[in-house]
Parts: sequence; C-alpha cells; structure tokens
Amino acid sequence: MITAAKVKLYPNEGQKILLEKHFGSCRFVYNYFLKKRDEYYITHRDAQRSSLNYFDTNNMLIELKKEHPWLYEINAQSLQMSLRFLDNALKNFFHKNTEHPKFKRKGINEYFAVPQHIKIQGNRIYFPKFSEGIYFKGSKDKLSEIRDINEIVITKDSGYYYCSIIYENEEELPEKKPLSSENSVGIDLGIEKFATLSNGIAIENPGFIKKVEKRIKRLQKQLSRKQKGSKNGSKHILKSQKEYMKLRNMREDFDDKISTAIAKQYDTIVIEDLNVHGMMQNHHISKSLSDVSFYYFKQKLEWKAEKYGKNMIEIGRFDPSSKICSRCGNIKHDLKLSDRIYHCDVCGLTIDRDLNAAKNIRKIGLIKVGSVRSEFTPVEIATSGLYGIYPYRQMSVVESGSSDALAEE
Ligand SMILES: [Zn+2]
Repeated sequence: MITAAKVKLYPNEGQKILLEKHFGSCRFVYNYFLKKRDEYYITHRDAQRSSLNYFDTNNMLIELKKEHPWLYEINAQSLQMSLRFLDNALKNFFHKNTEHPKFKRKGINEYFAVPQHIKIQGNRIYFPKFSEGIYFKGSKDKLSEIRDINEIVITKDSGYYYCSIIYENEEELPEKKPLSSENSVGIDLGIEKFATLSNGIAIENPGFIKKVEKRIKRLQKQLSRKQKGSKNGSKHILKSQKEYMKLRNMREDFDDKISTAIAKQYDTIVIEDLNVHGMMQNHHISKSLSDVSFYYFKQKLEWKAEKYGKNMIEIGRFDPSSKICSRCGNIKHDLKLSDRIYHCDVCGLTIDRDLNAAKNIRKIGLIKVGSVRSEFTPVEIATSGLYGIYPYRQMSVVESGSSDALAEE
C-alpha cells in the first residue's frame, strides 16, 4: 500500500538558500513551458499536431538550461517533475474539464518533487544536491526503516519547510467486502452541515473550524483593500497564511476522525464527486474553502475505505441528487438553492433537503453498480428520474426484477 508521511524540515542557512533556488527554478520552468505550450496551441490549433507534449518540453529544457546556466544548480529530475506536473494539469484541463493551469507565483503554494535517489538515515533525509542531508522531525513512523521511497515533495508553508515522503508500506490490505446495498450509506456533503448520511445522521461542522474560517474571510477582505506590496500588506499575508495553516490542521484532524468512523461503520459508501450541487456560486471565498475541504475529505475517505476493505462508489456531479424525490422519484425542477426543505407535490413527502439528497446519492450509486435488485423495485428505478441516465444498468435491473416487487412499499 502506498503511504505518505509528512515531516518538518530544519535546513541550515545554506540549505535554505538552495531549497529556495529549487522552488524558484521549478516555478520558472513551469511558467516558461506553460507559456510555450499555450502559444504553440494557439498557433498550431488547426495543424495536424496541435500541442506540445511532455517529451517535447523535456527536450526544450536542455536548450533552456544552456540559456540560463543557473538551472544546472538544480536537481535535473526536479525540473523534469515540474514538466510532469504541468503536463498533468494540461491533460486535466483538456480531458477532464478542469480549470486552465495558472502561472505560479512566488510565495504561493511553493513545492518541488524529487523522484529518485532518496535516503533516510536517523533523522536526516538525503537527496540529490543535498548530500549532507537535512535534519527533520515529526513522524511517528519509523522512516529510517523504509526501503523503498517512491518520491518526496518539499513544500513551504508560512515560512516553514516540510517534506512529504511517499513510500510503499509492507502492510497487506484486507479483502474487500462484497459490493451490495446491505449496510450501505449515501453521503451528502454540504456547507451548512458538514455531511448528511442517508440514514438520517447529520454531522455538523465543528464550531472551532467555523471560527477560523470567519477570521480568514475577514483577513482576506482587509487584504483586498490594502495596497499590493505594501509593508502592511505582507504582514497581513503572513497572518492569513498562519490562519490557513491552523485551519488545515484542524480540518485534517476532523476529516481523519469522521472518515475513520464512516469507513469502519459501513460496507459500501456512496459519495458525489467534487462539485457538490454547484452551491454557493456567488460566494467565492466560501466556495473555494469548501471545495478544497471536500476534496481532502474525499481523499481521506477513499484511503480509509481501502484500509478497512470497504467499497466506495462515486457518482457524477450531473446526477440530479437534490431534485429527485427520494420516495417516489418525481423530479422537482424548480427546487431553489435556498429551499432547505424538500416537499414533493406528487407523493407529499416533506423531508430535509440534504437528507433527501443523501438518500438519492445512495440510490444512484447502488443503481450505478447494479446492486439494487433486492431493495428497489423496477418501478421505483424506472420512475426515479435515473431512467435514461444509466440505461444499461436499468435494463439489467429491470430484466432481473420480478413483477411482485411492484407490490412492495
Ligand atoms: Zn415524491
């Protein structure tokens, strides 16, 4: 199993300078080739080959180094990893409809990766260009016993340096539980409430996280009024960075506890993919904060499900989980974002909006993997509004469903 450990680095002054050079050069290479690849695409749009790929940029990097000899001071593989990151970001943009990659800015989300020649001895980590090793602290794992390190990623956060160590853990994974509707749960992630489960359990956002989020929003508002580059401005940036770090640590701890509890409790977990309902579209800050935390939570949950041998099903953001009535399948097209209660005009169901969504998420997920035979009637599926979304699955369910199932419920 691939595992990651994060440690805090304590570089000496010389190492700090070299780390900064690595951040700067990797950023430079990333931005340089982002521009090149964009330009190439614009000028070759209609050509047979409309874009540069990773290998093209790798070859061009050789020339770039001759032009800028200071790049030789940097671990060549770290520069190549920058090209890989760029390549992935562009692939996601073209094939998965994500945002177009942005130019990296100094001091914001700085990182570089090292893919090879890494060694840990005692409390020092050794990698190319850092042959005397950097002292680190802060991991419960016995890192020096790791034989096979896949990769490390060095990051900087609020003036501190960190190293994420990604390695192969010897631990064997448990065998997966069979995929079925038994002991399954749908999860609706929200803004007001952290999560609502299809069985009615609601998980509130902890108060201390709300408090820090409020503080960050206030700082950001103040910051947008301050002039760029002013002394007061940079003090403010550091302050909000520290609050962010605090928030991340709290979130991580919270995510850890909740995801562990859910993965232990349920055998099949259904969850929506990232863009939850497109909620909060007009509140950019809240949205970006919550998008990020949903992402991390989902990652944690995925990992925990893996660890405890449970199934996780993801459903697409286009599945209309909040508009369907979870009892009769009627679709309420005029449901507004502000409607907290779902009321069905057809069957009369009145239910909390998030609970209704969570029930649908569970149902959609189970239909998707074809594990609903015993639980949902063919009529229910046919009328659920899911008809036509997964025609193939529908067919197999309807074929195997018996007509006496119609009498249920
Ligand atoms: Zn209904």
